[in-house]
Amino acid sequence: MKNKIAYVLAAVLFTVSFSGCTQLKAQRTEKQENVTEAVQNLDFSENEDAVHQIEFKLEYPQAMWQMIDLRYADFKNQEEFEREFYQDVEKIIEITGYKDWYKQYNPDMEYARVLIKIADMGYISVGGKCDIPSDDTVKGIFTTIYFDKNLIAVGGQVLPHELTHFLCGMSFSFSLADGLAEYCNFQVTGKSRNYSSYPTDDYLKVMEVLYQEHDEFNEEVRQEIMDSVGRAGQYYPYHDDDVKSPFWYMYSESFVTWLINNYGMENFMHLYRDGSSEADYIWLDEGGFDAVKQKWCDYCNNYEPQYDYDAFYNEHLEYRDRWQEIRS
Ligand SMILES: [Zn+2]
Repeated sequence: MKNKIAYVLAAVLFTVSFSGCTQLKAQRTEKQENVTEAVQNLDFSENEDAVHQIEFKLEYPQAMWQMIDLRYADFKNQEEFEREFYQDVEKIIEITGYKDWYKQYNPDMEYARVLIKIADMGYISVGGKCDIPSDDTVKGIFTTIYFDKNLIAVGGQVLPHELTHFLCGMSFSFSLADGLAEYCNFQVTGKSRNYSSYPTDDYLKVMEVLYQEHDEFNEEVRQEIMDSVGRAGQYYPYHDDDVKSPFWYMYSESFVTWLINNYGMENFMHLYRDGSSEADYIWLDEGGFDAVKQKWCDYCNNYEPQYDYDAFYNEHLEYRDRWQEIRS
C-alpha cells in the first residue's frame, strides 16, 4: 500500500467532475455481493491450526495507543486491534490456502515478533508498509508493519493488505503482490481502495470516466497501465503522487481477481510463489502471458458496471469529509 497522496488527488478529481458524469447508472445497489462465498462460509473454529502453530508477539512504540486518533477506526483500542490482527491472519491463510507460509522464512519457525507502528508516514507518502522479515532467533523472525495514522483515523481498511505482504511474501511481480494484497483486503473487509464498498472493477469504471474529463487519464495512459500489470519486476512503476499510481493498484487487483476466478487460487498461488518470470504464466494458460493478458483486457473492456453512480459519490463524500475533519 503506498497510495495516500494519490488517493487524495483522486478524491479531489472525483468531486470536481461528478456533475459531468451520467453514463454510469445502476441496476442494483446491494453492497459486498462480490465477496466470495468461500470467505462468507468460513468456519474458523475448524481451522485453528492455520494460525496457532505460529505464535505472534505484537509490540508497539511506548504510549502509541494513548497518542493516536482512532475516531473512525473499527478497532478502538489495542485489544480490539489484536483480535482483528489474529482473525485477519487466519482469513488470509484460508483464502490463499498458504498454510505453510512460514517455511519461506524459516522452516523451524515457532514465532513471529511484529512491531506495529501507527505513525505519521507523510514523509514517504504511503498508506502502509511491511518490512521484509529478518531473523530474530533461530526459532523466530522479526518484522515491522507501518500504518499511516491519518488513514487509520478516517477508517481506512489497510491491515489485511499489509498482512498479505507479510504472510504471502514477495512474488516475481510486484503487480501480482499488490494485486493479491488488495484482493485479500477486499475479501476480508469488503472494502476496495481502503474504504469503498464496491468492487474494484466498478470503482475503476467510475474513476476512468472522471479522470478523462480532466485530461489526467486517457486511452493511451490506460493502455500503458494495463500493459504493466502482471509483468515481472520487483519495483513500483509509478511514484506515489503520480495520478497513475492508484490505477496501477486497481488494475493489479482486477487482474489478480480475474486470474483467481478463472484459473483457481491453487494455480494462482503456484504462479505467485514458484514463478520466476512471465514465461511461467504458461502454468495457467497454454497461451502464456500474452493470451492471459488479452483475455483479461477483453474482460475489462466489456465490463458493465453494476452499481449506482450516486452511491459511489455519496460514499466518497463521507470519506472526504472525514479527511477534512481529522486535519482541521
Ligand atoms: Zn502493498
